[in-house]
Amino acid sequence: MVAQVIDGKAFAAKVRAQVADQVAKLKEQSGITPGLAVVLVGEDPASQVYVRSKGKQTVEVGMNSYEHKLEVDTSQADLLALIDQLNADPAVHGILVQLPLPKHLNEDLVINAIDPAKDVDGFHISNVGLLGTGQKSMVPCTPLGCLMMLRDHHGSLSGMDAVVIGRSNIVGKPMAQLLLGDSCTVTIAHSRTKDLPDVVRRADIVVAAVGRAEMVPGAWIKPGATVIDVGINRIDAPEKGTNEDGSVKTRLVGDVDYASAAQTAGAITPVPGGVGPMTIACLLANTLTACCRANKLPEPK
Ligand code: NDP
Repeated sequence: MVAQVIDGKAFAAKVRAQVADQVAKLKEQSGITPGLAVVLVGEDPASQVYVRSKGKQTVEVGMNSYEHKLEVDTSQADLLALIDQLNADPAVHGILVQLPLPKHLNEDLVINAIDPAKDVDGFHISNVGLLGTGQKSMVPCTPLGCLMMLRDHHGSLSGMDAVVIGRSNIVGKPMAQLLLGDSCTVTIAHSRTKDLPDVVRRADIVVAAVGRAEMVPGAWIKPGATVIDVGINRIDAPEKGTNEDGSVKTRLVGDVDYASAAQTAGAITPVPGGVGPMTIACLLANTLTACCRANKLPEPK
């Protein structure tokens, strides 16, 4: 069997087009433009790439993008003061603080200082609690993108066995909550899980969010299962040659060994081009939702 490729890039383009259409209608009917503020502390290269990409896509769907780039040694008090200011700003409907923060800043404190209604990443404890109790919340973008792809592929997920590998607050745990909300039987695996291959082999749906290059081989995958690969890992690719400075070129791979898993799975997301593009598309969708809620307008479907 060769797996069907779940094209996250194409799906994300569709979601962005839908958001752009809804933003245009919102502007026309109520004169409101949704606004997303992104806060970046320091100069982590990967974070800079993400922030640039988020800003560009925000503008492309017709929203306002506000970028706040702060020095790496910004104090906690200054960062909290900026968040207060953004919380109070009616033109800002969504606030995202790019993680990870430099070590001297307390991530939990900073995230929980964001107005939950503007917390488009869905990491504030209020949103975590709302999601956990099945109430209306802001849903973290990466797991939301995964869920959308799964629903699109399967229709109903009810009764399916799902294994989420990884229990982080930003991916694994909310992913498990969302799958539970869709009536899957959910197992959360992590670094202490006994006999992981056996656990994974039982699953109709495997979501890998570990951060270890190509850790899950095809031999672990139940024939016909759907595999969602969240991992983004950069590995050496000597077959691509060397850079000008003599260093070996690199490439991105997921947490799943794509070549072997694609022989067993029924469907699989590639890396790149799977979960990644859906994450930003969901961020834009969340910002539009936050804007509609703030203005007591019907939420986009
Ligand atoms: P974390 O490092 O926070 O969590 C990793 C999880 O994997 C932990 O729960 C850890 O277990 C578990 N783990 C580690 N080693 C093993 C192992 N050998 N067997 C089973 N479980 C293991 O990572 P994140 O959740 O933040 O991210 C996971 C991956 O997803 C990364 O590659 C990241 O780059 C990517 N990512 C991609 C996004 C996208 O948009 N596509 C967005 C966010 C993340 P334990 O808790 O026991 O330590």
